[in-house]
Amino acid sequence: MPEHGPTIVTTITGLRADLGERRRSGQQIGFVPTMGYLHDGHGSLMRAAADDNDATVASIFVNPLQFGAGEDLDSYPRDLERDAAVAAANGVDLLFTPTVEEMYPKGPVLTSVTVAGLSERWDGASRPTHFAGVATVVSKLFNIVGPCRAYFGEKDYQQLAVIRRMTADLSIPVEVIGCPIVREPDGLAMSSRNVYLDPAQRAAATVLRRALDAGEAAVAAGASDPADVDASMAAVVGAEPLAELDYAAAVDPDTLTQPERLGPRVRLLIAARVGATRLIDNAGVEIEAPQPIGAS
Ligand code: AMP
Repeated sequence: MPEHGPTIVTTITGLRADLGERRRSGQQIGFVPTMGYLHDGHGSLMRAAADDNDATVASIFVNPLQFGAGEDLDSYPRDLERDAAVAAANGVDLLFTPTVEEMYPKGPVLTSVTVAGLSERWDGASRPTHFAGVATVVSKLFNIVGPCRAYFGEKDYQQLAVIRRMTADLSIPVEVIGCPIVREPDGLAMSSRNVYLDPAQRAAATVLRRALDAGEAAVAAGASDPADVDASMAAVVGAEPLAELDYAAAVDPDTLTQPERLGPRVRLLIAARVGATRLIDNAGVEIEAPQPIGAS
């Protein structure tokens, strides 16, 4: 843990000056992009970055480009003082906190990064401009920070797939590292948006994890038609009066498409609204190959 908190940098020029010197002295830089209101899911990415690299940069930027009309851009929770303490406790050296004007000085961007296909299904169907907003800001942040490695949570599984594909397609020289989902003790995936939930909604929100458990059980019981697995997850959400399902899908973990029959590796994706709050979650399932008869 650094003795003092991270250095807070608000300008692109200031961040580049600091990181340029570090790179010249041979330091490897790890990067964790976030929208702030940090919790231990973010903390786990920061610890992974601090373990693997000489210097760790985290960014806090609530990126208007990735919010659709009527979404929670204006109400998104913010608390820089607390975030600086969480970053300090998790080994962050530099905290980059640009304003919208610093990131988009010319106003609305004319250049946008779109990862076709992968961005259109599941969350992209409900949030049609979301992943282009994410891909555009992440490519911009990669150009500003120039990290060796960047850390993303599997919590946002489709986002991770989009970033991996963007990085490969554009030959961006950064290693993208996916980190496991961090959960509350009752199974709810940690999210900055959980603060929107009132006590009854907070209790109901465990329905996402419970639905994933039902999906995993269906796969383990031998279901091979993805529609059957989807239905087992949807039934759990359907039984929770405070939740409204957006989608529940068993998909190929790399393409995020639904095969006719499930292969040995499956990713279960789910999104539901609890009150006005949209929550997402997911889980990986590996189906063990049947043992040949006579094998010990
Ligand atoms: P956000 O601030 O929500 O944009 O998230 C910033 C990064 O933290 C993304 O890579 C997320 O996937 C990751 N993240 C958010 N919640 C969790 C969690 N519960 N477990 C692991 N990673 C997370």
